[in-house]
Formats: sequence, structure tokens, C-alpha cells
Amino acid sequence: MDFFHVHVSPRSRTLAGEVLASGWLSEGKMTRRFEQDLAARLGILHPVAVNSGTAALHLGLALAGVGPGDEVILPPQTFVGTGLSVLMHGAIPVFADVDPLTGNLSPSAFGRAITSRTRAVMPVHWGGYPCDLDEINDLAKEHGLTVVEDAAHALGATYRGRPIGAVSRFTAFSFQAIKHVTTGDGGALSCSSPVDARVAVARRWFGIDRDASRPSILGERVFDIETLGYKSHMNDLAAAVGLGNLEDFPARLARRRATARLYREAFANVAGLRLPPLAADRAHAYWLFTVLVERREDFIRKLQSRDIPASVVHLRIDRYKVFGGLRRDLEGQTSYDERQVSIPVHEGLTDDDVQSIIAAIRSGW
Ligand SMILES: *Cc1c(COP(=O)(O)O)cnc(C)c1O
Repeated sequence: MDFFHVHVSPRSRTLAGEVLASGWLSEGKMTRRFEQDLAARLGILHPVAVNSGTAALHLGLALAGVGPGDEVILPPQTFVGTGLSVLMHGAIPVFADVDPLTGNLSPSAFGRAITSRTRAVMPVHWGGYPCDLDEINDLAKEHGLTVVEDAAHALGATYRGRPIGAVSRFTAFSFQAIKHVTTGDGGALSCSSPVDARVAVARRWFGIDRDASRPSILGERVFDIETLGYKSHMNDLAAAVGLGNLEDFPARLARRRATARLYREAFANVAGLRLPPLAADRAHAYWLFTVLVERREDFIRKLQSRDIPASVVHLRIDRYKVFGGLRRDLEGQTSYDERQVSIPVHEGLTDDDVQSIIAAIRSGW
């Protein structure tokens, strides 16, 4: 049994084959189709495809105007890519506390961390469970800050009837190998404003606005570059893999949710285990199924003895020197960091796998 599942659909192989035979491998029609499909199938607003989730976060911060000396607020409960994208702009990551039961940024802790130098906030939907986005967006608006969601775990999640990717000004998705939908490596920045999306399209590719350029008699395109751009665009080969994987994504997500329902019923009364809350106003994407346990190492060892993988996936990232050191006053994070552990929930599990995980945990550790 694997902890993560890498899904490549037969349709991905067909489409990738078409791209390989076409003579056009760079960003082109297939990337556009992938972006259109993300919008049409999932309701994501103006997605701009890039070559990683980290590139999407970096681009979102660039469009938010984050620069040297600015502060960006984020939770420690995430993958290092979130914090590194802040450092890439010469900005300062400011870690704010999380809800001790979900690992998601606490809106009140976010509010307390705001200073005159704060420019943006990056809520991370840990494991795929949506953050308190209305509270976070209200505070951000009040203080003139930009919200750049890290939705690397949350493709397909919804918040108060809206898809993740249609709530804040910017939302970053990852299509890395082990995420819900993979392109090999890839990402997308969704933009609530079409004006932002147009700028993002130029800045993902050296800052060149291709729509506004025209070829000269020399064959060279004529354009100016007005803002710093990056080499962050997605290529058509990656987009083909992603496009093929989007088709069966709703069924795969439904399977994850069905498995999670079985887990929640089975673990409702297990001593030493606490289920994170599940609010009725949002739908979980279940990239992870995380529980809070006592004696975590014993829990992991017990599952390992039955060939079931369990993992903390990521411990708090403020422990890395590059970010400047641990904030010991973050009580919610400290508590979450000590107790959180995830069990397999992906669509590659058989019914027998799910039953053996349930039986192992119910028998104690
Ligand atoms: C995977 C991930 C990223 C980075 O995505 P890449 O595509 O690997 O760059 C960022 N944040 C979180 C929370 C992730 O899980």
C-alpha cells in the first residue's frame, strides 16, 4: 500500500503522444485547453498555467507587488515552497499561529501579525480543508493586503458554495507528481480579475505580452518588456498530461470523499484519536486524511507493522534556519505539530485496503 498515489490516465498518454508528434512542445494550444478545462470543470477563475505550484505562489506575490522588506503572513504548517516564494522576492515571511485542530491559519492570529509593512497573506488549506476565507479576506481588505491562497492540497474543495480558486484575488495550485491532478510538475495561478490574469500571462513568460506583439519583416517579434517576467510558463506536454487527468478527477475526488466518510464513522469513538472538525459550509478535497493522536510514534509503528504507511507529511517549516528560527509562542502550531498524522485516503486504495486501515486503528496502538 502506498501513502501517495500517482495517477496518469489513459487519456493523458494519448494526449501527450499527440503533443510529441505535433512538433509543438512549448506553451501553446494544449496549455490553453488545460486552462479552459480547469475553469469549465472546476469553476476556477482565470487560471494561468505555470511550471510549478511554487512558481504560481511566486507569481501571485509578484502581482501583489511584494518586494524587498515587505512582510508576508503565512502559517508554519505548510510545505517549504510557500515560505521560499516569499524569500525569493526579498520579502520577510511572518509566521502566524494555526488552529490547533485543523492546522489552518487562524484569522485572529493573522490579525495580530499585521504591521505597517505587511503586504500579503498566504492561507494554506492544509490537507485540502478550506481555511476561514471570508474572515481572512475581510481582514485583508480592511488593511489593504492581498490574499494569495496556497491551494496545493485543495483542488476541488469548496468554501460557502464557491470553488477554491474563485474566492480570493489569487489562488495557487500545484500539479506536482503526487498531487490530486498531476502534469508531472506544474501549477496554476487563478486570478479573480481578468486584468490580473493578462498580466500573469505576460509575466510567466519573460514579461512579453504575446497578444500585443507582431512579427517584423525580419521575423523577429516586436515588443517591449515593461515589467520583470519569469520563465514560469507550462509547456504543452505537461498540459496534455494534466488535461487527460482532469476528466476522471471528479470520480477520483468522490472516491476520496467516500473513503473519508468511512474513516470518520469508524474513528468517531477511538480512544487517543481526535478527528479534525468538518464545517458544513465547506467541502474538503482530502489530499490528506489527517487525525490528531496521542503517542504518535506508537501509532505509526502499529500501522507499519501491518504494512500501512502513515506520515506527518510536513512538520512546521519555521524550524528551518532559512526562515529565521522557531516561534515558540505559537501554541496552536506547537500542539498541532506534536499530534498530527495522516493515513492513506487516495483513490488507489482498494475496499480491502480501507477496511484493513480501519481495523488496524480501531484495535488500538
Ligand atoms: C506541493 C506544495 C507546494 C509546491 O508545489 P510544487 O508544484 O512542488 O512547486 C506548495 N505548497 C504546498 C502546501 C504543497 O503541498
